[in-house]
Amino acid sequence: MPSTALVIDDDYDVQHLSKLLLEQHGFAVETVGSLGELARKPALLEAELILLDLGLGKFTGLDILDYLHDLRLQTAVLLISASASQAVDHALEVGRQKGLNMLGFLPKARLLGGLADFLAPLAASAKAPWAAELEHAIESDELFLVYQPKKALKSGEITGVEALVRWQHPRCGLLFPDSFIPLAEKHDLMNALTWQMLELALIQQTRWRALGWDLNIAVNISAEFIRAKGVIKTFDALLKRHALPAPALTLELTESVGIECLGYASHVLEALRDRGCRLALDDFGTGYSSLVQLYRLPFGELKVDRRFVNSLESDEAACAIVLSVIDMGKRLGMDVVAEGIETAHQLERLTQAGCGLGQGYFISRPLTAAAFTHWFKTQRSSSNPHYPASTPSISSAS
Ligand code: C2E
Ligand code: MG
Ligand code: MG
Repeated sequence: MPSTALVIDDDYDVQHLSKLLLEQHGFAVETVGSLGELARKPALLEAELILLDLGLGKFTGLDILDYLHDLRLQTAVLLISASASQAVDHALEVGRQKGLNMLGFLPKARLLGGLADFLAPLAASAKAPWAAELEHAIESDELFLVYQPKKALKSGEITGVEALVRWQHPRCGLLFPDSFIPLAEKHDLMNALTWQMLELALIQQTRWRALGWDLNIAVNISAEFIRAKGVIKTFDALLKRHALPAPALTLELTESVGIECLGYASHVLEALRDRGCRLALDDFGTGYSSLVQLYRLPFGELKVDRRFVNSLESDEAACAIVLSVIDMGKRLGMDVVAEGIETAHQLERLTQAGCGLGQGYFISRPLTAAAFTHWFKTQRSSSNPHYPASTPSISSAS
């Protein structure tokens, strides 16, 4: 696989020239003109080299350096600018202070003759491509799950958890799914990742069951997972190996994939539902589901996207949407889950509106298995009538 480079410059001539030169050195090159464009294509950040213009209209190269720092990326950065200046020195200094791999500065006028000087040492220290690292991470214990409780709003009972993947990257620290799921999608690693997360979820399920806790675990799956050959056979084998029943799991499929495209895989969804596995339509309201498909496909749960929940207090339209979805879900015999509840007021509003279940930082942030075990024990020993004071010991759980 060739090395990858990203050119960030709002000057299309510079983009074009840089692309040509880098391609001559064997790089596969992408170009973007703004931070906004970059934020919409995070997979581009897997590049091994970034050529960064300092002046980008509304934003500056410093904003991009902040972004790279926030994502804890170690990509090599070469600053390009019309001329040397204090701003360039300052940006190099800031980048280095942030721990970024700053290669130096090249005036745009010297791109043609000067670029090669910076590329030679880079080739010598080329790091393993992200895709290979991710593949390794899936097989090792670098990927792990955190668990966010799902609460029945009226009774206060914790009915289950949603499992969310995290990557403890050896160099970059803790990475969130938004920064590596696009890579997994691009490099055909989603199915491997999903099976591994199901495996981890079932191991955890067994541990909690040993404590007498019957918690449904929701795992996020992708559309490719449903479309893959032999998914039901592998799913059955997985449950058998862990000696767990299908109702122990919920599979969440995000609405933004477009549920229309699932039509031809509906027999797979039905087979999962017939086994007792719950199916949830995630981030509802962000895609373009036709209501007919929603009715036809065997989803038992609708998860209202957190953007609507967040705007409950401030935006009448968002409020109307949430109330309508709750009503529609009920009429279709589906459970409605409100995602991203962050305030007491939102919780109260949703409970009053008859929303069945909720998740969000106000209830609990996603927790490691050990932290969830501790949190859940505290819930059970509180005055909540759902949980009698005598709880099993948690010392062996993790
Ligand atoms: P999602 O499935 O909709 O998960 C909910 C996301 O909202 C999680 O982000 C969670 O940490 C965050 N969240 C929960 N409560 C709140 C809140 O009150 N406020 C705010 N602002 N955020 C809240 P996370 O863990 O970063 O996951 C992002 C997305 O990545 C998930 O959205 C899901 O689509 C995807 N994802 C996560 N884990 C997996 C996985 O194992 N497999 C697949 N295929 N996708 C995954
Ligand atoms: Mg989800
Ligand atoms: Mg969601």
